Amino acid sequence: MHDTLVINCGSSSLKFALIRLSSQETLLSGLAEKLFEAEPVLTVKSAAGKQVVKLSEQGHAEAMRGILGVLQEQDLLSQVSSVGHRVVHGGEFFKSATRIDAAVVQAIRDCIPLAPLHNPANLLGIEEAMKAFPDLPHVAIFDTAFHQTMPEQAYRYALPDNLYQEHGVRRYGFHGTSHQYVTQQAAKLLGKPLEDTCLVSAHLGNGCSITAVKGGQSVDTSMGMTPLEGLVMGTRSGDLDPNIHLFLSQTLGWTLEQVTNVLNKKSGLLGISGLSNDCRELEEAKNQGHAGATLALEVFCYRLAKYVAAMAVPLGRVDALIFTGGIGENSRFVREKTLSHLGILGFHLDPEKNAGMVGGQSGPITREGGPVALVVGTNEERMIALQTREVLS
Ligand code: ADP
Repeated sequence: MHDTLVINCGSSSLKFALIRLSSQETLLSGLAEKLFEAEPVLTVKSAAGKQVVKLSEQGHAEAMRGILGVLQEQDLLSQVSSVGHRVVHGGEFFKSATRIDAAVVQAIRDCIPLAPLHNPANLLGIEEAMKAFPDLPHVAIFDTAFHQTMPEQAYRYALPDNLYQEHGVRRYGFHGTSHQYVTQQAAKLLGKPLEDTCLVSAHLGNGCSITAVKGGQSVDTSMGMTPLEGLVMGTRSGDLDPNIHLFLSQTLGWTLEQVTNVLNKKSGLLGISGLSNDCRELEEAKNQGHAGATLALEVFCYRLAKYVAAMAVPLGRVDALIFTGGIGENSRFVREKTLSHLGILGFHLDPEKNAGMVGGQSGPITREGGPVALVVGTNEERMIALQTREVLS
């Protein structure tokens, strides 16, 4: 068997999955978390059920040992033939998934200024996994790589040229693995070759981004140099007037770090509602008449609809709008509200189909005769495993 171990390493957690591509199965998946707290823990889901393992030491090395132990216990260790690593930022170095060697590690390190929170953690995951599986090939899959096909008019900011040339200040985009996966699935659902499709992909989870995908290639996306730009998200503000930084520092005396923290961690759905970053919770609160929750969802859907219309520009036509991620796959309300703003593009919601599309189902939610809105379940782990195999073959 050729199974791929998929690793997604954060600063205090390590997500993993074992994927068997021949049968499209996730054999096992899990999360090692609280890695620097008093009681780090590893949770594993597999056919054998759910298993919770207490880790005896702090840190990523112990998490990796725990994962090895579980694979061994379930007799799966010998089946692992490759390791695929999610890496957040590949800058302009990486236009596709790449087999990891010393030069690739260095290039990921060189991208740290672009993703200071994520790339160091991703590198740590690579280091530990290479120690644990020294004889296996390791492949890096970048969130940014799919968007490297964007034309310059889409990725450049209107800033002095040297900020781009000397410091890499440009739009990179994220969620590339998900956008690529769901657009491939959508082409299948539409019964069209991917090369002939013009698709808008809306990935709506805790982070949210939207991408215009023409013939299978990203031509524009809403996230920028960092994941803060674009749509309203769980705790991130998305687009705003950059002068707000100066205003907040002058009126409230906030440091740049404080402003950045508020924009990334205290804004978005959480900020507007004053209640929660969780869409499901907000919908419940809205149904009870909570004004903040209602407004947060209104702003979320309105901004999203504006971006869908904007993404029609590089596409020229819209064959389908894809909803994915936890919110896109499950929130009937968000899909309905968003489409209600998009009559101008010819979308007509089918309320029955919309109501039935929850919990990982895929399919259309619009009436015939206009562009299609589709719900497509994302599966980043499977896409990482697919790309790992592609690189190695
Ligand atoms: P992440 O970006 O962390 O992977 P997810 O893709 O799991 O996040 O999305 C999490 C979001 O999905 C949360 O806001 C959650 O409330 C929302 N969500 C999940 N299920 C539902 C549901 N049934 N109705 C509305 N929102 C939901």
